[in-house]
Formats: sequence, structure tokens, C-alpha cells
Amino acid sequence: MTRNLVLILGDQLSLQSSAWDGFDAEIDRVWMAENDEEATHVWSHQYRLVAFFSPMRHFRDAVVKAGFTIDYHELTDNPRKAKGCSFSSILSASITEHLPEKIVVLQPGDYRVQESLVACCRDRGVPLEIREDRDFYCTSQRFAEWAKGRKSMVLESFYHVMRAEHDVLMERKNEPVGGQWNFDKDNRKKFPKSGPGDVPSPPKFEPDTITREVMRMVAKRFAKHPGSPEGFDLPVTREQAVIYLNDFVHYRLAKFGDYQDAMWEGTRFLYHSRLSNAMNLHLLSAKEVVEAVVNAYFAGLAPLGAVEGFVRQVIGWREYVRGIYWHHMPEYQTRNSLDCNIDEDVPSFFWDGKTEMACVRDSMRLLINTSYAHHIQRLMVLGLYSQLSGVHPYAFHNWHMAMYADAIDWVSLPNTLGMSQHGDAGLMATKPYCASGNYIDGMSNYCGKCKYKPRQATGDDACPFTTMYWDFLDRHQATFKKNTRMLLQIKNVERKDSAEMEAIRIRAKKIRDGKIKV
Ligand code: SF4
Repeated sequence: MTRNLVLILGDQLSLQSSAWDGFDAEIDRVWMAENDEEATHVWSHQYRLVAFFSPMRHFRDAVVKAGFTIDYHELTDNPRKAKGCSFSSILSASITEHLPEKIVVLQPGDYRVQESLVACCRDRGVPLEIREDRDFYCTSQRFAEWAKGRKSMVLESFYHVMRAEHDVLMERKNEPVGGQWNFDKDNRKKFPKSGPGDVPSPPKFEPDTITREVMRMVAKRFAKHPGSPEGFDLPVTREQAVIYLNDFVHYRLAKFGDYQDAMWEGTRFLYHSRLSNAMNLHLLSAKEVVEAVVNAYFAGLAPLGAVEGFVRQVIGWREYVRGIYWHHMPEYQTRNSLDCNIDEDVPSFFWDGKTEMACVRDSMRLLINTSYAHHIQRLMVLGLYSQLSGVHPYAFHNWHMAMYADAIDWVSLPNTLGMSQHGDAGLMATKPYCASGNYIDGMSNYCGKCKYKPRQATGDDACPFTTMYWDFLDRHQATFKKNTRMLLQIKNVERKDSAEMEAIRIRAKKIRDGKIKV
């Protein structure tokens, strides 16, 4: 007989979380499960699967080292030897075995998982206690108070509230350090013509025995999934994650602000932290990451623009998307304000990178090799292509969940369906993030190496982004006319010569229908 069966989900790898509050090793038991359902509900990249399973197995060992008993359900490379394929079937079997008085879990990062837990516990007649996740600055209740009565929930005011409430980069009440809240305008530099030069690489962690075993299992059991586990180098333990954080703070943070929107062919992580994976697995807490970055400013290691820009991503954007998620689920996932066709899926080159478009090809190279692309590649290359070509926002979210090692439902859904695809009718962003190939040309060296011309909208050499940009505005004119922030772009469509506009429509449709291979 067990008092509490404490579930640790694959993205909850912290010994400090509230799931452990009151834990008594004599009468409580820890439970973790690798399972097919979580590995296959989207067509997960093999690298991404290693990024979950290896840290889980390392965490299991840390739990044992701390002196606790754990029920750990491991997947083998033989699907027939699996004890159970779904999360709830494995849990149900454990309930039968241990007869717990209660199931305890930290709030899951996925509404679907939470629902399946609730259903399993209800069916088995076992009480379920879902505990608040204190790794985040903002509780669901606090977000609901902030959101009450707001039609539009744009980030900036939420960000100010969080900074002030948690006293982050503040001189005194309502007075931000440096006299302004936001240095975003200073953070949009492009690289010089000579390129980014030598950017210090983040640490690489050679796979240890556990990781190698996981890589082997994934490559065999999930052989048909995209990508490969080869080259896996992410932190898999808290100790490694702390090394990763310190390395970023010392060697890349100072230029993160300047170049956060810049892209350059053939590079990897540039000045981005790539800490999202470790943070989303709870190997690092948001609070310790923010503290390390703010301390770097006061120690003179990084300028305020870089530090504020990074802090805004964490205490602002990250908390905000989580708030949006829990405030609006499950209805949020059904939103499709631009009326995209339900069958409109991502193009095949979003899986294999086989395209003539230099910007997409390079973003896909990084994504296939590392299960990562930085935010401007996600938003203004891959997200933009998906938006302009009319991919259904939920299909884009599913693809994003499959391909990125840091994607968990709470963070992926608002970022994809909302911010990137404008599927939530402007709840998060007052206008769609739509642009032509000229934007990509302005922020990268991609276009100079591409067979297409970013300024051209028609003809065989026309940039597909530019063709589809005008077509996108044209298709949604009636909706966007009601948005004052879109008026200038709509006026430009109206000014287009009608013959050119017709040629754009025809070419865009052929690209969208796959009749022109791009
Ligand atoms: Fe991308 Fe268009 Fe530039 Fe080619 S020309 S790299 S497709 S933006």
C-alpha cells in the first residue's frame, strides 16, 4: 500500500518542484513512464525523442541517488516488449500494483495529458492532486486576474506587471533600470557584410552510456520518424544545464540583443542561448536563469539592451504564452480565424529540407540536424512560409511539436497558432507577422545565394515569399481592412496593377497547390 504515487512527467525533471512537497520516502513512491503515446502523438523528430528520454533516465538515477524508490517504465527497442503503449494504461497498471491513496502531479504542460490523467484517476477511483508549478513567475490565477476584461492581451503591459511584481531589473516601484522598459528597437541589427565572424559555440556534451543507449533505442523503435539522433549534444542533467547557462551568460549574452533577429547561412546557434530545452524540462528554473542574466548586467558582463531583451523573453513572453494557454484551453486549439482549410498541411520540405529556397533550406538544415532553429527562423522563415501559404494553424503547431526539441504544448500552441499564424484573430498580436522576401533579405545573407529574387513577385525567378505575401494580403483584404495597423499594407495591394495582381494570384495558387516546385 502506498500513500502518494508522485508522478514525474518527462518535462518535470526537478527535485525542487512542488510535486515533492511533503514527500515521505517511507510511504510515498515516485513514478515515471516513457511511453509510445507521448512519442508518437506527433511524428516526433528522433533527436527530440532523445532530448526527452535521456534526461528522464538521468533524472531517474538522480532520484535513486537521493534515496527514493521509483517505478520507472522504460521503452525498449522492441515494440512488442512494451508494457503498455499509452500513458494511462501504464498508470492504471501501477495503480493496481501499488493501490495508492492519492496520485500527486505537478501541473502538466499539456492539456491533453492533464485530461488523460484526470480520466484515468476518475475511472480508477483514485483522488488526483494537481499542484501549482512554482518554476513559473505567474500562476494561472494571477494571469486570469490580469486578463479580466481585456479584449486584446498584448504582451507589453503584462511584461511590465511581471517585472514590477517580481522586482526584476527595477530601480524602484514602476521605475525600470535604465529609465525604459523595452530596448527592442536597439535589438534589430543585421550582421556586417563579412558575416558574424567567430561566435563562441555552446558546450557540447558527448553522449554518455545512458544517452547512447537511448539513441540506439530511438533509432530502432522510431526508425520511421524524421531526423536522426546522431550529433545529440544537449544537456541531459541539471549539472550540464547549469554549465550551459553559465557559458551563455559569459560568452554570448552580451551580443544576444544586437543580433537576436539576424540570420546567416551555415551558422548554428549564433548568440541565442538554446536554453529553452533545459528550461522547458525543468532542468533549470526560469528564476535562476533570469537571476544569472540580471547579475551579468550588474557585473558588467553584458549591456542592458541584451539583458532586458533576454529577460523579456523569459519573464514576459514565456510566462505570457503559458498564461494564454491555460486561460483559453481547450477552446484555443480550435481557433482558425483566417479560415484555413483543415486539410492544408505543411509542405514536404518542412520534413526533409529539400527546396530551392535558400532561407528555408538553411533553417531546415539546422532543424533536421539539431531539432532547433532560433526564433527568427521559426517566425520569419518557416512560420511565415506556413502562414502565407495557408497551412492550417493546428497542422503547423503539430509539425512544430514534432520537430523542435523544446516544444511542449503550452509553449508551442500560442507561439504557432497565435503569434506565428494569427489563428487567434489577434488575441496575442495586433497584426499578423506577414512580410515578403524583402524582410528576409534585410536580416540575412540568404537571398544572395538563392535562385529566387526577393523583390520579384511574378515570373520564374520570383521569390515564393514575395508572391505569396501579396496573394495573402489580397485573399484576406476584407479581414485586414478592419485592422488599422494593416491599412498601409492593404493600400499597397490596392495600388497594384490588376494584371500583375492576377499573375501573382495564379503563381501563388500553383505554389500552394504544389504545381510549381519551390
Ligand atoms: Fe528566401 Fe526568397 Fe530570399 Fe530565396 S529570395 S532566400 S526564397 S526570401
